[in-house]
Amino acid sequence: MKSFIEYEENSDFSIYNIPFGVGIFSDDEIACVTRIGDTVINLAVLYDQGYFDEFNLGENVFEAFTLNEFISLGKSVTVPVREHIQKLLLEGSELSKDEETQLEAFHNIEKVSMQLPVHVPNYTDFYSSIEHATNVGKMFRDPDNALLPNWKHLPVGYHGRASSIVVSGTPIYRPKGQTMPPNADKPVFGPSQRLDFELEMAFITNSYTDLGETISTTEAEDHIFGMVLFNDWSARDVQKWEYVPLGPFLAKNFGSSISPWIVTLEALDPFRVNGPEQEPEVLPYLKYEGKKNFDIHLQTLIQPENGEENLICTSNFKYMYWNMAQQLAHHTVNGCNLEVGDMYASGTISGKTEDSFGSMLELTWSGSKPLKLNDGSERKFIEDNDTVIMRGWCEKDGIRIGFGEVSGKILPAKD
Ligand code: CA
Repeated sequence: MKSFIEYEENSDFSIYNIPFGVGIFSDDEIACVTRIGDTVINLAVLYDQGYFDEFNLGENVFEAFTLNEFISLGKSVTVPVREHIQKLLLEGSELSKDEETQLEAFHNIEKVSMQLPVHVPNYTDFYSSIEHATNVGKMFRDPDNALLPNWKHLPVGYHGRASSIVVSGTPIYRPKGQTMPPNADKPVFGPSQRLDFELEMAFITNSYTDLGETISTTEAEDHIFGMVLFNDWSARDVQKWEYVPLGPFLAKNFGSSISPWIVTLEALDPFRVNGPEQEPEVLPYLKYEGKKNFDIHLQTLIQPENGEENLICTSNFKYMYWNMAQQLAHHTVNGCNLEVGDMYASGTISGKTEDSFGSMLELTWSGSKPLKLNDGSERKFIEDNDTVIMRGWCEKDGIRIGFGEVSGKILPAKD
């Protein structure tokens, strides 16, 4: 496939991607958009010019602050609409000759302010990387029994906070909280001293289901619109003191950052791979068929203020022990209902090697092995004015698609 819009060979936003997002343009107009190379395309303009007339979309679903309405149309509509957009962007298409529409609809990415792509009614965070769960279990609990007895039988998760999910580029204030210093007999209050990132990805659902309804692993992907990069900021010192017995609370809910472009499952389809073998055998409702994991290269970088980027972690989404279909089947097996725009994060994605660990907690082994940055400084955890950047992409047979990046700068705690 060749587009009439030029882009660099290694662009995440090739003609094979066609992701969806929401952008604000220089005239303060807001609309649903797609992107190819560095060109952002206002889909609301294409709608007004009749380019989606063959679809029964009703009103202009792209003239909106979020993608919720569009994605709620379901895959029977969104999949052919995406394929149609892809065709419109090919050499020789009607749009390629329509300079008037191009002038109105096409914007350079530098001139567009990307927004949160969906309104997120609910957020769930899983804990589905066996390497991460094992590493954390060793540090927080017992090195000899790192995985708790339930871990290989169900995708462990908890309900997070949707209100503090922010788009890439939004600064995060260092959280304050209660911690119990080592050897102290009572807790203290102050800014977290062990602020961390978690390298994750999240999927977004496209439907409302009824209470009592369950979704099988076979049906699950019909309910998943696409994926984003997800940084689940975590205050390890707060977490360690507060998490017993009900799990994470204030250590996690002060902010989670996502990349602005939702990459669809259809774009990711060529990059499917088998997941790790699951032993012991899972219960019937968690069994699945086919390739449900995806080969997505992941990176985390730290950029100190006015400094250069330091690559500190190289991981891959394919390491996930539990896949998205199993996560959604488990989430609904009790009759819990889905909503359009819900976000389901994977949990930290660590690989087997020390340079593939998806958090500072693991990379520095709880601060005992600081990382050295290019400027000579050391990091045990994330410091004020550090920016954490995560990138993700797929590459195979000369075809590349990607997520771009999610970045977030840590500001000093607010007074
Ligand atoms: Ca997490």
